[in-house]
Amino acid sequence: MSLSLSMQQIVLATGNKGKVAEFTSLFEQYKIQVSPQSEFLVSDVAETGSTFVENAIIKARHAARETKLPAIADDSGLVIDALNGAPGIFSARYCGQHGNDKGNCDKVLAELGNEKRRNARFLCVLVYLRHANDPTPIICQGEWHGQITLEPHGDGGFGYDPIFYLPEHNCTAAELDKAVKNAQSHRGKALAQLMKDLQPLL
Ligand code: IMP
Repeated sequence: MSLSLSMQQIVLATGNKGKVAEFTSLFEQYKIQVSPQSEFLVSDVAETGSTFVENAIIKARHAARETKLPAIADDSGLVIDALNGAPGIFSARYCGQHGNDKGNCDKVLAELGNEKRRNARFLCVLVYLRHANDPTPIICQGEWHGQITLEPHGDGGFGYDPIFYLPEHNCTAAELDKAVKNAQSHRGKALAQLMKDLQPLL
């Protein structure tokens, strides 16, 4: 007899502290036990894919292989039309240094300069793998639309939040209440979809 998901531990395949914090609060509403891969000392893996989907699968497969547990991975980033989709899958290391949030925001602002077209969107792909060799991953995607500011505002959130302006809230994602961000963000939307798709397994 196989265990239902609600009785099983699942590994969250990310080392990004901002994402772990958001997922921890997002998962509180669902009755499944998800533990960050840092608890299992999962090693880093190279994100060699050319799409968010490929990279999410690479991360989930790696964590599932090392832990022997089902895995959820998130690959996400910022997509700006006026920059031909950049920073895209290179969002975490756009300025050349992985995880340098300020450097990444500064580079986006410099690349955009006085460009009038400042629309942008965050994208999040979530992948669930039952095990490392699962041939039928569950894949969900969420988007969050906004505009790039002329300068950073706010100190909440992480990554590009200080330069991501939301006209409907008249503030940046870094100034937004955490619960509101979780309900409306690319990650919140992708996770809500994933939980629906996982329902039969719970
Ligand atoms: P990943 O770990 O390769 O998926 O990198 C995702 C990168 O995209 C992060 O390091 C951030 O720079 C950016 N990013 C993803 N989601 C968010 C968000 O919710 N707010 C701000 N930046 C984000």
